[in-house]
Amino acid sequence: MAVNTKAYLEINEQLQSQQVTLVAVSKTKPVSDIQELYDLGQRDFGENYVQELVEKQLILPNDIRWHFIGHLQSNKVKYIAPYVHLIHGVDSYKLLLEIDKQAKKLDRTINCLLQVHVAEEETKFGFNELELMEAMEAIHKYKLLNQLQNVQVAGLMAMASNTDNTEQISKEFAYLKMLFDHFATKPGNDQFRTLSMGMSSDYQLAIAEGSNLVRIGSLLFGTRQ
Ligand SMILES: *Cc1c(COP(=O)(O)O)cnc(C)c1O
Repeated sequence: MAVNTKAYLEINEQLQSQQVTLVAVSKTKPVSDIQELYDLGQRDFGENYVQELVEKQLILPNDIRWHFIGHLQSNKVKYIAPYVHLIHGVDSYKLLLEIDKQAKKLDRTINCLLQVHVAEEETKFGFNELELMEAMEAIHKYKLLNQLQNVQVAGLMAMASNTDNTEQISKEFAYLKMLFDHFATKPGNDQFRTLSMGMSSDYQLAIAEGSNLVRIGSLLFGTRQ
């Protein structure tokens, strides 16, 4: 009922032609809404809360690619580790170690994106530029020592400022793209290829600045309370 299938089909067609991955953000929405988009062919869905994801994953088809896009606490990694497709919001080294530990137990590799703080707001999580450089260097060193074998840092994720100032938003996306290119172009970094930026209000701006994965909720599922 509340699912806007017309918007979905239009957005999906546009993104496919631009080779941008669409993650349908289904947090707080019922499984019937997810099933509706699934039946139209959508396979990538994003959730923010561990408990909610666990419940939905049990009920919905197994070939859904679940993206965890919320703030993940280390002690909850184990609940999503068996099936999560991509964890977007990794914002600490400690969290990355825990993901590696849980993935190792399951004998799988979990793809992760490092979250970068690009917005003006204090409240958004993520590494700043210097912390990101340090984290990437540390990860590289651990990999050389045969540690962190069960996590793959596959790119970067960010949320722009919550503002009507499109120039400001574009500037933040361009900055993230610059950081992304810095790592993506390094030799041996061919797994580093996902740039997750853009939501309902700003995904066109994000794509114009080079995003290749957008996370869209309310345009597809209606507003959340
Ligand atoms: C909720 C959420 C989205 C989707 O937001 P919409 O404005 O509904 O498109 C995207 N990314 C993150 C990290 C979110 O928490």
